Amino acid sequence: NKFRRVALLGAKGVGKSSIVTRFAEDTFLESYLPTIEDSYHATCKHRNETYNLEILDTGGQDEYSYLGTQLTIGVDGYVFVYSICDGGSFDMIPVAHRLLSEALGTEKVPKILVGNFLDAADKREVSSEEGKNLAEKLNCPFVECSAKSGQNISKVFTLLLAEVEGMYFQR
Ligand code: GDP
Ligand code: MG
Repeated sequence: NKFRRVALLGAKGVGKSSIVTRFAEDTFLESYLPTIEDSYHATCKHRNETYNLEILDTGGQDEYSYLGTQLTIGVDGYVFVYSICDGGSFDMIPVAHRLLSEALGTEKVPKILVGNFLDAADKREVSSEEGKNLAEKLNCPFVECSAKSGQNISKVFTLLLAEVEGMYFQR
């Protein structure tokens, strides 16, 4: 099996930990666990190949945060997460993207934009159109998902893996 390492970025409370635990362990916690930060392991298929993914969960980015080397060295792809019910978390995505690009010295890195909380669409503050437009600007795929229901969670990682492998192929 091939090994790939990916990381989740985004504001606090958007569901980063919930997405990774839903994907890796198929569980969901209603309670907020802001201090739990860890790496998780899961397998993912792409073009008849099984990949072992290490998924790095992070505490959340803001304008003042610093992206340490554990998030910039040896990471193959990034998941930018916001909540469709939190416009502020959506506005943080370009900030997190700029921080990452500065830390990496390039914008050319495999990534995906993810709008979580799809199960709570009645409280939606960010339209799918806005998400799609931002993804176009960032030049990456876009998907809305729910860590609570599990909807589209595996799609997040299969789409990211396709980006990661596509970029390997280009080199
Ligand atoms: P993080 O700070 O980005 O890691 O966010 P968490 O994963 O800790 O989630 C923050 C809160 O939102 C927790 O109470 C979760 O149970 C809840 N949550 C996470 N994802 C979803 C989701 O897709 N739908 C709903 N309704 N709640 C969610
Ligand atoms: Mg978390």
